[in-house]
Amino acid sequence: MTQTFTKVTAIRGMNDALPGASARWEQLEAIVRDWLHAYGYRNMRAPILEHTRLFTRGIGEVTDIVEKEMYSFTDALNGESLTMRPEFTAGMVRAAIEHNLLYDRSQRVYAMGPVFRHERPQRGRYRQFHQIDVEALGMAGPDIDAEVIVMAARLWKLLGITDVRLEVNSLGQAEERAAHRAALITHLEQHKDVLDEDGLRRMYTNPLRVLDTKNPAMQDMANAAPRLFDFLGEASRAHFEAVCARLDDAGIAYTLNTRMVRGLDYYNLTVFEWVTDRLGAQATICGGGRYDGLIELLGGKPAPAVGFAIGMERLIDLWGQYQPETAEPECDVYIVQQGDEAQRRAAVLAEALRDAGISVVVHAGSGSFKSQFKRADASAAAIAVILAGDELASGMASVKMLRQTAQSGDAMQQQVPLDDLVAFLKDKV
Ligand code: ATP
Ligand code: MG
Repeated sequence: MTQTFTKVTAIRGMNDALPGASARWEQLEAIVRDWLHAYGYRNMRAPILEHTRLFTRGIGEVTDIVEKEMYSFTDALNGESLTMRPEFTAGMVRAAIEHNLLYDRSQRVYAMGPVFRHERPQRGRYRQFHQIDVEALGMAGPDIDAEVIVMAARLWKLLGITDVRLEVNSLGQAEERAAHRAALITHLEQHKDVLDEDGLRRMYTNPLRVLDTKNPAMQDMANAAPRLFDFLGEASRAHFEAVCARLDDAGIAYTLNTRMVRGLDYYNLTVFEWVTDRLGAQATICGGGRYDGLIELLGGKPAPAVGFAIGMERLIDLWGQYQPETAEPECDVYIVQQGDEAQRRAAVLAEALRDAGISVVVHAGSGSFKSQFKRADASAAAIAVILAGDELASGMASVKMLRQTAQSGDAMQQQVPLDDLVAFLKDKV
């Protein structure tokens, strides 16, 4: 007896990209790879699963991500505590340390793929989402901070995206943050009455994060708080100004947002976000900064680094507002065939066409010409090839132009000897 089966749906906040939408992803990924290679970045892949303590240590115990967003579980087979990566940097740095990548050189590396955060799903906020992650490891100067920012600007330009703005800030160094922290805690204590639950909890553990609140009732308090920027020493200021000067050189506009702290604890000096008004509440498409302490914090030999991550769902959403989706053809040539002999010849012909670099779909199974042409049309192929009956027996195929293109000309349907077909079609697609 068969048992009834409750249909399985995707996990909330985790999306399928169906063929049409996925074509868009592939286009973006291709553009992104070229863009990264233009700056000498090389791909690097680390596992999606890592030991939980990599993230608690790397990202920081008192952060949104570690406190409430991680997909962590105990591996039932060996009792290890594992976590689905909620961001790339910690894993990239772990791999760089483990394989001694920074032993005798700096490294420009990138990765692309899914990350996981248990957040409340809404537009631009998902539980599985995708990032383009860019890391410049082993370089200390403001030139590199500026280079990665300029680099992001180039991607927006490549995609035709204009409505984005850059916000920058400096988080200084640990000693400067410590001095500011004391002043900030005093301020928070004086305004305890307006702090929400998160604010009260973080007041002593991560006071800077309290200022990053989106709670409207806390905005006045946050605006009036002592600014970390005012606690920066000469070296930190000089670094920041050098970054700004290079952004000026590149003709990139920016605003100083002294309240930007970023959601991860490992940043120092330069932090930045690219923001748009076109995506509603989820406005940040790219965020990053310098993290000179992380490599040492994770057990490596001290080395500076800077990087950023782009949220791909948000970027695709935004990109789509500038470039409406165009349906990508499934193939160049769709082969319509009728009869056992035709089906077998079609399969062989299709391989020969693919050898010549033409993409081909052979109609599967059988079906009336009418239904096969309907499928051919839906495939958006430029050309249909028909193999059937007496025509085939005399070594001929029919070629039908389904779309008029410059190459295909306007002959609607013509007969072509099977032996000439590859050469004939090569000029048409
Ligand atoms: P937000 O303030 O929107 O929560 P964040 O500071 O947590 O962002 P980062 O950790 O800096 O984000 O991640 C880099 C980018 O990844 C973000 O700028 C955003 O574009 C994207 N992103 C972050 N969280 C999500 C999510 N849950 N769903 C989709 N994209 C996301
Ligand atoms: Mg977040």
